[in-house]
Amino acid sequence: MLIQENVALAPLTTMGVGGPARYFVEATSTDEVREAVRYADAHRLPLFILGGGSNLIVSDRGWPGLVLKMAILGINHRHGRGTAYFDAGAGEEWDGFVAATVAHNCAGVECLSGIPGSIGGTPVQNVGAYGQEVAETIDSLVALDLKSGEEQEFDKEDCGFAYRTSVFNTRQRGRYVILRVTFALKLDGEPKMAYGDLQKYFSNRDSARTLANVRAAVRQIRASKSMLITPGDEDARSAGSFFKNPVVSAKLFEELKRRAASQNLAIPRYPALDAQKKVPAAWLVEHSGFSKGYGNGAVGISRKHALAIVNRGRATAAEIVAFSDEIRRRVQESWGIQLEPEPVFVG
Ligand SMILES: Cc1cc2nc3c(=O)[nH]c(=O)nc-3n(C[C@H](O)[C@H](O)[C@H](O)COP(=O)(O)OP(=O)(O)OC[C@H]3O[C@@H](n4cnc5c(N)ncnc54)[C@H](O)[C@@H]3O)c2cc1C
Repeated sequence: MLIQENVALAPLTTMGVGGPARYFVEATSTDEVREAVRYADAHRLPLFILGGGSNLIVSDRGWPGLVLKMAILGINHRHGRGTAYFDAGAGEEWDGFVAATVAHNCAGVECLSGIPGSIGGTPVQNVGAYGQEVAETIDSLVALDLKSGEEQEFDKEDCGFAYRTSVFNTRQRGRYVILRVTFALKLDGEPKMAYGDLQKYFSNRDSARTLANVRAAVRQIRASKSMLITPGDEDARSAGSFFKNPVVSAKLFEELKRRAASQNLAIPRYPALDAQKKVPAAWLVEHSGFSKGYGNGAVGISRKHALAIVNRGRATAAEIVAFSDEIRRRVQESWGIQLEPEPVFVG
């Protein structure tokens, strides 16, 4: 196990900001994870687990302790009756995993195609897109408990999944290192077609609704919104959606509708968001004085997606945070709603 010093973190994140890790190690096995944890304990270093770096804003000062880059690889699968169990190392790249499941004609994660990051990152915020989330297919996972030093198996029910949350980013934040995740997928299952964008894509084409075609469609739709990491696409230098869709009470939603109507505006309704009483955060941002492409300095809003804050060049983490605070303040003033950031702030 090689412990490196002063390793730049910005290139290891999709946002591309932030200072160095005081110490840095890549762990390719459970034993190496344990060894790294012992090293951090022995030297009293705060530990941070890095996956694909796609949901992070690393501070300009960097991380004062040890960054453990998760690099446990390997995908195994076994078939039960109608169900295929895929067991993947936490360091596997998520989208490569989705491609493998689709190649085996297994349904359940096809709509999550094109999301950057690692397998281990997906349960943390219960990754979701186009009407699907990993909570629907995660069967179990194995994590190292930093408190007891023991490996612990979590069934789906133990993970506390809800919209963009799990126990791993709420009450047990920082306690576990996720080592492996097992997904239960439907063998020869149908693709999920819950989302309007996907239905529209297929209604305009003479293309069969197979898992492979849905995966291709999702990637194409994501690319058109710079939500697919594509070399050279400046609008993809982001952490994805910067704000969660706020969940509001029925009363507050009525109040918002009245406020919007008084300005001759209507809050767009999407069945998927309606069911969970969510207000589209993108609409709130765009109706608080920020449009796609807003900002002409180092930080701005993506030209293709109102919820993505992008690093247009040499932005600092402080500039990103100041810009997101300005958006939050203006949304609060205009609509009385406090937007909650989705990325994790490190250091
Ligand atoms: C262009 C773009 C599009 C995106 N689209 C979506 C989307 O559609 N839907 C969505 O939900 N998200 C989206 N995201 C956000 C991001 O891709 C996901 O949250 C992803 O799952 C993060 O995984 P990661 O491996 O990159 O985690 P990181 O960013 O490295 O880490 C995120 C958090 O997870 C923790 N973590 C990571 N791995 C482990 C592990 N093995 N054990 C314990 N903790 C761990 C980290 O400590 C940190 O707290 C997008 C991001 C970008 C840049």
